[in-house]
Amino acid sequence: MMKPTQTGAWIVAVLSLLLGYGPALAESKNRIETENLIVEWIDGASADAIAAAQLEGEKFFAAVGEMLGHEPHHKITILLRGPAEQPDGSWGYPHVDSTGRVHLFRFGPTHHSYLSSLAHELVHVFRIHRRSNADWFFEEGFAEFVALHVDPSLCGFPWYEFPVALAAGQWFARDEAIPLTVLRQQHRRLNLPCKAQSYTLRSSFFYFLGQRYGDDLVLQMAQQSRAGALEDYRRFFGTDFEALLGEWQESLVSEYRATEDAEEQARRYRQETPIQYMEICQSGTQF
Ligand SMILES: [Zn+2]
Repeated sequence: MMKPTQTGAWIVAVLSLLLGYGPALAESKNRIETENLIVEWIDGASADAIAAAQLEGEKFFAAVGEMLGHEPHHKITILLRGPAEQPDGSWGYPHVDSTGRVHLFRFGPTHHSYLSSLAHELVHVFRIHRRSNADWFFEEGFAEFVALHVDPSLCGFPWYEFPVALAAGQWFARDEAIPLTVLRQQHRRLNLPCKAQSYTLRSSFFYFLGQRYGDDLVLQMAQQSRAGALEDYRRFFGTDFEALLGEWQESLVSEYRATEDAEEQARRYRQETPIQYMEICQSGTQF
């Protein structure tokens, strides 16, 4: 039952809505609900971006749910937070907060740049109940594995429309590949500072596991109570983590070498995409 003060607040809210102004309207105007999502946006967000977030968001929600075999029991909130470059010069980056809301930023002039990491972030929300006890090397690799299936556009970080084998393979060609054993053991220290390398290499590895051994096995491994333990790799793929890394590297390097104009494409990937602004971690210094 409502208290009198609550009733009063409702009358003000309804009146404000009817009159087209006031605090209640201000609170609700930048928000829309769809079947599975709540989309909120900052003032000035384009109608295109808001429409695309609803449409693409529902499409990704359904596709991620189908791959994972489960869905959250509540609507997922997606926040369109505006340009990635912040007034203080820092950069916002897409992430899921502790309450499970997805924060997205615009990295370019088109509304598509808002959505390039949406499928990846939705995977984190679907698996948020694992957050406190997760193997983050696996969780990040798995989120990208699902995203590459659900949204094969490769737009945005870390691909910038270059093929996976090109973006990941060129680190090996230049002797700048972080060994994934090291990345797995030191995820927290290396993942974000070395993000250009960590996201491309790890994604390529999990994508390779699906291609060579079957996507179903990667999906089954993800269902382990704490997915990503070393014994999981042996259990699901029949060989240990180090051996799998060797198979992956061999396959990746040969695919990279077989790519037409690989060196020129790698140069463009490195110098003409936002990768040019990212720190490239060096062997012997950072890893
Ligand atoms: Zn992630």
